[in-house]
Amino acid sequence: MKKHYQILILGGGTAGIMVAAQLMRKDSALKIGLLEPADVHYYQPAWTLVGAGTYSFRKTARPMKEVIPKGVDWIQEAAATLQPKKNSVIGSTGQIFTYDFLVVAPGLVYDLDLVPGLGEALDQGVVCSNYTNPEHTWEVLRNFKGGIALFTQPNTPIKCGGAPQKIMYLAEQYFRKHKVRDHTTVVFATPGTTIFGVPEIRKTLMKVIDRKDINLRFGYQLVKIDAEKQIAWYRLASHESEYNHKQIPLVKEGDLLGIPYDMLHTAPPSVAPAFVGESVLANPSGWMEVDKHSLQHVEFQNVFGLGDVAGLPTAKTGAAIRKQVPIVVDNLLKLLREHHLGTKSYNGYSSCPLVTDYGKMVLAEFDYDNNFVPDPKLKNMLISDSSKEHWRLWILKKYGLPYLYWNKMLKGKEV
Ligand SMILES: Cc1cc2nc3c(=O)[nH]c(=O)nc-3n(C[C@H](O)[C@H](O)[C@H](O)COP(=O)(O)OP(=O)(O)OC[C@H]3O[C@@H](n4cnc5c(N)ncnc54)[C@H](O)[C@@H]3O)c2cc1C
Repeated sequence: MKKHYQILILGGGTAGIMVAAQLMRKDSALKIGLLEPADVHYYQPAWTLVGAGTYSFRKTARPMKEVIPKGVDWIQEAAATLQPKKNSVIGSTGQIFTYDFLVVAPGLVYDLDLVPGLGEALDQGVVCSNYTNPEHTWEVLRNFKGGIALFTQPNTPIKCGGAPQKIMYLAEQYFRKHKVRDHTTVVFATPGTTIFGVPEIRKTLMKVIDRKDINLRFGYQLVKIDAEKQIAWYRLASHESEYNHKQIPLVKEGDLLGIPYDMLHTAPPSVAPAFVGESVLANPSGWMEVDKHSLQHVEFQNVFGLGDVAGLPTAKTGAAIRKQVPIVVDNLLKLLREHHLGTKSYNGYSSCPLVTDYGKMVLAEFDYDNNFVPDPKLKNMLISDSSKEHWRLWILKKYGLPYLYWNKMLKGKEV
């Protein structure tokens, strides 16, 4: 049996729920279907704080049924096959769903096979990730007795590119407070060329790096983990460089360089879900191919994509989604009623709340060109320069943003 919807949304994460909620606010008569297999919706940005022991994991989760807007038809199964030429999607139980318009928002998935050894090591012993189990990160920090604390990230795009360093800044302070810092070397090994792409933010973060005496290694591409010997293996890119040199007992194996660790935090390698990556909607890297300003699929005009799954040249964050949703909603409603796209354009806005200590934060807000574009509303919070560390920004991260997320963003209210 086929089921038809005016608008079919794939994924009930930040993007899917926000699109559904804003659409229902604008027109509650719309016939919207939402394919989402999970029972629980998570506020992932707070996992950084969970990993540092300053937020409860329980508070980051809500039952899915509580966040799906009233009037939206929740189909609790996964999308399995996309058939945009037939305006249909096959669900994991074999049911067929047809649509006038499709919104693709299933987020991203972790492909641990891209770094051999990581799958076996992750969330066990001294290897942790706020992306997969922030409560385990907190356990690792508490049990750490000194040595090399290695913070790293893979070569793929990841959610919230700043998250792998946020936990490092908090961990460093935790180690200091608990008297293990003086016999610890904190290392950040990244495939990138800089600590952050936005110059104003970079300047502040480099001061944080100096203050915390962190050893920075650029051009380090993580290729495998040897959990038994506790070594992270890297291939060095041509732009490899080191800042704030520390003597570390590095090991070599052919053209690979190994960093021994006593604790390791990493983001997992991330890719688009296979049903998107293997479909005609994907770009050559597997991400959903949308116009970067309208978020409309480049070929199928009744298909939109946003959130982590979208192949957009900006950081994958919930903050980016906050700005993407009104564009998608406006375009959908204009197409439905007037048969043309709206005039709003997404400028690549994304933001990264970089906590730099317990009680301090820098708010990186930027566009496609890495211009620093701070929200004028921050002035109302008496924050004149959000590129500098500020305690009020920490309050925003820990209390303000979760409140706005659950009570405004997910309810389809403008924030
Ligand atoms: C540790 C960490 C820290 C972060 N920090 C920040 C931060 O400080 N600020 C910020 O703005 N962002 C941050 N983020 C990123 C932010 O959480 C994500 O960018 C955002 O949640 C992405 O939303 P999404 O809707 O695209 O995907 P998700 O929210 O991941 O939701 C995807 C949904 O799709 C569903 N789904 C999957 N497969 C299918 C399928 N086949 N069919 C149907 N549904 C499917 C999933 O069950 C899920 O519910 C952080 C993320 C992490 C992990």
